[in-house]
Amino acid sequence: MRLPSGLQKIAAKSAEIVRPIRRDIHTHPEVGYKEKRTSALITEFLKELGLEVRTGIARTGVVGVLRSGRKGPTIALRADMDALPIQEETGLAHASVNDGVMHACGHDGHTAILLGTANALVQMKKHLVGNVIFMFQPAEEGGAGGKRMCEEGCLDDPKADLVFALHCRPQEPLGHIGLKAGIGSSQSDMFKMTVLGRDCHGSRPDMGTDPIVIAARVVDGLQSIVSREVAPFDIAVITVGTFHGGTASNQIPDKVELSGTVRTFNPEVREKVKKAMRRVLTNTTKAHGASYKMRFYDGYPPVINDPGAVELIRQVGEKLLGKDSIQTYEYPSMGAEDYAYYLHRIPGAMFQLGLAAKDCDDPHKLHANRFDFNDDALQYGIAMMAGVVFAGQQYKAGKGSRK
Ligand SMILES: [Zn+2]
Ligand SMILES: [Zn+2]
Repeated sequence: MRLPSGLQKIAAKSAEIVRPIRRDIHTHPEVGYKEKRTSALITEFLKELGLEVRTGIARTGVVGVLRSGRKGPTIALRADMDALPIQEETGLAHASVNDGVMHACGHDGHTAILLGTANALVQMKKHLVGNVIFMFQPAEEGGAGGKRMCEEGCLDDPKADLVFALHCRPQEPLGHIGLKAGIGSSQSDMFKMTVLGRDCHGSRPDMGTDPIVIAARVVDGLQSIVSREVAPFDIAVITVGTFHGGTASNQIPDKVELSGTVRTFNPEVREKVKKAMRRVLTNTTKAHGASYKMRFYDGYPPVINDPGAVELIRQVGEKLLGKDSIQTYEYPSMGAEDYAYYLHRIPGAMFQLGLAAKDCDDPHKLHANRFDFNDDALQYGIAMMAGVVFAGQQYKAGKGSRK
């Protein structure tokens, strides 16, 4: 595998160009499918680079295409643009000016890295063959923007052969990357349950059916599913995240609403858990004379990283960052990632990009209201993404690419 000799320098220079852009995006965060300002900014940047640009994909998504003019494979790179409905508490000069909206998952960094990568690859165009597709998707945080991007053809013109993405990891050291072949993230599903009782005065529980007590037993019952019904070598998580019932201290309410998340890796375990949850809810409410409502919402499927693509990233990482900077994860992340939808179409892999500065031993985590992307990681992200494009093209050309 050969990488252009000036790649790291060009990546570092590109990082300086996109550093203020990253902060600008951070200051003006937008939630899923509302990334209007962000996508306008991306569009302008890509157009100035001379790329072919398509807008309005998956509503606010942007796709840029760099054609080398030479025959060869097409490598697609993906970034997500959306922010979260979280009130920022960083107190930084570039903190969010949009009330209750914040880039707490580093998607501002991902977007800046992909812009920087486009800038770097345009400068190294003479070393490229085939094409590069730069995909900026909306709504990763629950809106399945990646699914819609794929459905609306982001990988189809030109036809992509491999797709890569990264996600920042605040707890990993700066200049390090993390890899996981095979299953990289969990199947993430959501549920809502309502325990329906009968309201009455708090002093006369015998005159009603108390949904608070019954819902508490439901929560307790759900907790034995993973410990008693899922095999010890399988992985599952059931978390009840909300529990709402009642408005007065001396009243028994008529219902309690619960919601939560289920994480699994294996479709059979997933089905088993879903069935058991319904059984616990049905029988617990029945035992106490209450009734229920329940709904499951299917979430993102697991990310399945192609082992060949992971190996490519490893080789690029060893060249650019050094062997000691590559971490191989033993376990997948319990998080969810809609990058999974791209991998349903073509092979590829996601890697994790470390953000933690040396002197920082307890960094703010993703989705925390004091998290901020570390701009010093931009150059590593850009170098890796650009390197992976060259490596991917050589790998795919060796295997015979789609024309
Ligand atoms: Zn997130
Ligand atoms: Zn994220």
